[in-house]
Amino acid sequence: MRDTAGPRTRTLDAAGGLITPGFNDAHQHLRMGAHQLPNLDLSAVTTIDGIRGRIAAFARAHPHRPWITGRGWFYHVFPGGFPSRALLDSLIPDRPAAFESYDAHTTWVNTAALAQLQITTGTPDPAGGQIVRDASGEATGILKETAMELVDRVLPALSPAEDLELLQQAMRLANQHGVTSVQDAGVPVEQFAIYDTLRAAGMMSVRLRLAQHLEPGRSLHDVERALADWEEVAFPRRRDPWLRGGILKTFLDGVVESRTAALLAPYEGTAQDDPAARGHPRWEVGEFREVVRMADRRGWHVQAHAIGDGAVRQALDAFEAAAIANGPRDRRHRIEHIETIDPSDIPRFGRLGVIASMQPYHADPAPNLLEIWVQQIGAARASRGWAWGSIRRAGGRLAFGSDWPVVSLDPRLGLNMAVNRNTPSGEPAGGWLPNERLPVADALAGYTAGGAYAEFAESDKGTLGSGLLADLTIWDRDLRSEPTGLLAARVRATVVGGQVVYEQGPP
Ligand SMILES: [Zn+2]
Repeated sequence: MRDTAGPRTRTLDAAGGLITPGFNDAHQHLRMGAHQLPNLDLSAVTTIDGIRGRIAAFARAHPHRPWITGRGWFYHVFPGGFPSRALLDSLIPDRPAAFESYDAHTTWVNTAALAQLQITTGTPDPAGGQIVRDASGEATGILKETAMELVDRVLPALSPAEDLELLQQAMRLANQHGVTSVQDAGVPVEQFAIYDTLRAAGMMSVRLRLAQHLEPGRSLHDVERALADWEEVAFPRRRDPWLRGGILKTFLDGVVESRTAALLAPYEGTAQDDPAARGHPRWEVGEFREVVRMADRRGWHVQAHAIGDGAVRQALDAFEAAAIANGPRDRRHRIEHIETIDPSDIPRFGRLGVIASMQPYHADPAPNLLEIWVQQIGAARASRGWAWGSIRRAGGRLAFGSDWPVVSLDPRLGLNMAVNRNTPSGEPAGGWLPNERLPVADALAGYTAGGAYAEFAESDKGTLGSGLLADLTIWDRDLRSEPTGLLAARVRATVVGGQVVYEQGPP
């Protein structure tokens, strides 16, 4: 590189550290996370008393906010797995309040919020969601899946200036953690315009890919019209280095903890004939297959949220059927999450060229998180939990991400999980399901080359080479030589397109 240096070239000394390609967070929710930055974060609170104290203090500190909002509570903190509106009423009696669970699949609201949402005993559940009720039909304050959107519709909107400021803050936060690319898993097509504004002002410090979200329940004709509209905005950007489009997000199921993930066989302790026994698939099998076939024919890249083994199979089947119907093409369809999988489906990722998009820190084996997950599905299915090692060995490609704000966007947490399969404090020794551990080089590839491949951008980024975009993360040590010390590593600097966007201050 010395030969290319000019008088204004700045030389950075990596001082024995490691320079990797810039990290690519292949599954994130940047704008959702950005909008949560001013709200209460409950993700570090693990007792009911702690939650009481934090919510009460936050409400006192923000006396003029019309709604008190936040996110990050864990199911296991509450008896029975869910909090109640009475608990929230005791803390915030006078204003509406809404708190999303850590996994973004449940919202907890108080009585004032239910009144504002006009939810009564007669309100029907929205398609794909549930307003949980007690024996007398009164809402308990728990809104699952699509019922959460009832809250989103009435929350006061941010001003455009606040929106842009928060997006910039979120990008700076990503840069601090060595992240140079983010793939946002499901946003309205209108968001391209918001980032265009940031880009025109020179305020983008993260390269983005935006997926459009498609809900079930529409006619095939309607879906085709929607896709045609979105294509006008998204398809010209399929190769744009800053703001890529061309990907479609769908949800095939929910989550294991609330028994909404779709399974091949019933949840533990449920009867075969219980209609809810296998969870909550969001799409009819035939409907999803037809939509994927059409989107595939039109050139879309499809990413399907599939957590349970039933949803994973449904996605693989639909991708396989689309390939048979539409003929050979470089497709790179993706499945997001894959928390448990049937053994016969593991080799299908490699065989079909489907990308396993996984967020390693979701596999945190902290006892209070893992126990509630294992209880739902039992030991056999749990033994195939987050099986990235098996999928990789069977020829599947991995793309790693965080799912921020579901968990922290710090990729060291995911790297540690991918490599060591233990909690940040090192439990269990030897790792949970140690057969699924990855070598450091493979875990790094999941966050770099794998993420770039998953967005058809491997000729622009994801590796270090001449002619690429010069997105780099400079670490203070060689991550490869200290697999048990990954969490202690520090990002020394982050470079996007040859520009230093973050630099660690003096110690
Ligand atoms: Zn997500």
